[in-house]
Amino acid sequence: MVHGNICCKNVLVARKGLEEGSSPFIKVSDPGISFTVLTREERVERIPWIAPECVQNVNKLSLGADKWSFGTTVLEICCHGEVPLKERTLSEKERFYEMKGKLPEPSCKELADLNSQCHSYEANQRPSFRTILRELTMLQQQNPDISCENSVPTVSDPTVFLKRYLKKVRDLGEGHFGKVGLYIYDPFNDGTGEVVAVKSLKSECGEELHTSWTREIEILKTLYHDNIVKYKGSSSEQGGQIVQLIMEYLPLGSLRDYLPKHAVGLGQLLLFAKQICQGMSYLQSQRYVHRDLAARNVLVENENVVKIGDFGLAKAIPEHQDYYRVKDDGDSPVFWYAVDCLKEGKFNFASDVWSFGVTLYELLTYCETRQSPPAKFIEMIGVTHGQMTVVRLIELLERGQRLPCPKSCPLEVYQLMNKCWESDPVRRPPFQELIPVFQKLYERYKRIETSNILQKL
Ligand code: ADP
Ligand code: MG
Repeated sequence: MVHGNICCKNVLVARKGLEEGSSPFIKVSDPGISFTVLTREERVERIPWIAPECVQNVNKLSLGADKWSFGTTVLEICCHGEVPLKERTLSEKERFYEMKGKLPEPSCKELADLNSQCHSYEANQRPSFRTILRELTMLQQQNPDISCENSVPTVSDPTVFLKRYLKKVRDLGEGHFGKVGLYIYDPFNDGTGEVVAVKSLKSECGEELHTSWTREIEILKTLYHDNIVKYKGSSSEQGGQIVQLIMEYLPLGSLRDYLPKHAVGLGQLLLFAKQICQGMSYLQSQRYVHRDLAARNVLVENENVVKIGDFGLAKAIPEHQDYYRVKDDGDSPVFWYAVDCLKEGKFNFASDVWSFGVTLYELLTYCETRQSPPAKFIEMIGVTHGQMTVVRLIELLERGQRLPCPKSCPLEVYQLMNKCWESDPVRRPPFQELIPVFQKLYERYKRIETSNILQKL
């Protein structure tokens, strides 16, 4: 029988055994809810107890997995209940396993050897419990009072990237404040390194931007969702200032790079729209307002998955306060902003919904430059400069004018855009409600597309 959740929390103390003449006695208790119903996120939370092979695949739960968990439990015992990797975020934990990170070892050498076998990344190389028992008994006989170290041994940090091992391959793109490049991180210098996307602040950026930069890194570190770009770590200059953000590389680039060059069906566009809503809904559950949702900031993983990126302007809004006032909007992407943002500098969840409407418009125009939101709005207001553009844009939106319906965009989808562009923020649909709407639309249009293809054959 496999237990599936061996850890100190599931070991009950029947007798402390500290009194003269008594010995300690413990009992393993039940594993709690069934392992197979855990979500992927819950499984990642169980790192470092869960065996690496079980993070990806629940069906890999085996006696081998119990051996790994046993090793971690021994560590907890040796460290007086301190939990290894406790402070790590979910993506850091996941990365620790991906990089085959080594967990700390008990200070007693023989116990450390045994434990490192339990923590082998190859499940079939972990010793059997019979062997473990034999070794432990032997150890105990040789060493009646093995004492363990008080302090927690240190783990080498997989989220720290040393600048000298980052080799640039090429530029990937740049936006308002940052530029992103493709790099290989190759500490062994033997071509086995991993491909990563590295974002750095543009050199002309001033001191004040460093604060929002550090904030972007702090935000991305805490986020964990299938539709949000994954943080891998950071690299810092001597002196400790964080200069580069390391994230997963998405080879297909942003929607703006992808859509004009690929034959994408309406079904696929609606699937992307749904995923953006899922990512945004998660962000909202973490109380973050993105403030810069646009096709250029949505990255494409493959033809079925997109992820929200670029948290440069995102700010955590404190609970009980439903907006954040922007002081300096000099460089803002105004054509994606809700009319209330333009007028009062108020950003909230509803203004993200407005920007989503503009992003949906971009999706349905396949990010074609001539139909871009700035191009279309300027067509409507005439060429103006600086603050005047904002004044004209506000006038236009207040007259009730909106971006036009993109060619071949179904009316019901255009109606959804217009709902996101309601003047009154409370009338805009929340992301949570948009998810099932896009799911249904996706299924319907996918079916239509498939039957059209079949008819042609
Ligand atoms: P900025 O804050 O300067 O707008 P972004 O994070 O939006 O920077 O990145 C700028 C561009 O770089 C994106 O539009 C995209 O084309 C490219 N890019 C960003 N991150 C990645 C990534 N992880 N993988 C691939 N391309 C990326
Ligand atoms: Mg950007």
